[in-house]
Amino acid sequence: MSRHVLDDRMIAGLHLVALRTSGHDHDVAHAHVAAQVGTIGSLLDANYDGSMTLSELVARGDLGIGTTNGLGGELLVVDGAVFLADADGVISIPQFSETTPFAVVCPEDPFTQFSASGTRSDLEARMSNEGSGRSVLGIRIEGTFDVVSLRSVERQTKPYPPLAEAVKDQHMFSCENVVGTIVGFCFPDALAGIEVPGFHLHFINAERSRGGHVMEYVLRQGTVSLTEVDDLHVELPAGVDLGIPGEGDRATIRAVEGGK
Ligand SMILES: [Zn+2]
Repeated sequence: MSRHVLDDRMIAGLHLVALRTSGHDHDVAHAHVAAQVGTIGSLLDANYDGSMTLSELVARGDLGIGTTNGLGGELLVVDGAVFLADADGVISIPQFSETTPFAVVCPEDPFTQFSASGTRSDLEARMSNEGSGRSVLGIRIEGTFDVVSLRSVERQTKPYPPLAEAVKDQHMFSCENVVGTIVGFCFPDALAGIEVPGFHLHFINAERSRGGHVMEYVLRQGTVSLTEVDDLHVELPAGVDLGIPGEGDRATIRAVEGGK
């Protein structure tokens, strides 16, 4: 399987490598390396056709988020297990042969764990402080939440509409007094367009029955684990370009994905 390095540089303390691959099956997880499929910019442009299987994805990391082929919902990788929240937040376990057009995973290897409680902004401030000086954070929050406000998206059919159109039909729902897990990442603003700048988190309850993309939350009591990522390997499907890091359309990304 050949791999072509399209871009290799340092951005905001992060080693960014963009790769064009004709096969992914020989790559494996490496400590502090996050593997990403596609870019948020390519997703905004309606590139929803999957290019990497979920089995290839989880070979690269046991913690992560994304979506599936055709924008099939909100994907989570927790302890190497894969879950998909459909448009109504109902969780299923996708086949490992299912593909993804956009996802990011890393091996979970926390440099810090701490007890916490509070609102989303409280937690984001605390995580930013604890992760100060590190370019990318892999995030896991285990605990009891007073409320988690979620959204998920409808599976799309061709011709695919741009993401800003697709999310107009997004479903909003919430879980209250719920025990569960949040996983995701915080990426620097300098990567806007490749990734969602700021915090991008997905939730699943302890019963593994409900979940989605996190809009707001209040953590009653829980434990936060932060993993440092210092390399990002972006695997670009055919026809998808990296774009110019930091030049993403922040307003549209914020409108469709949140983040800062
Ligand atoms: Zn999301």
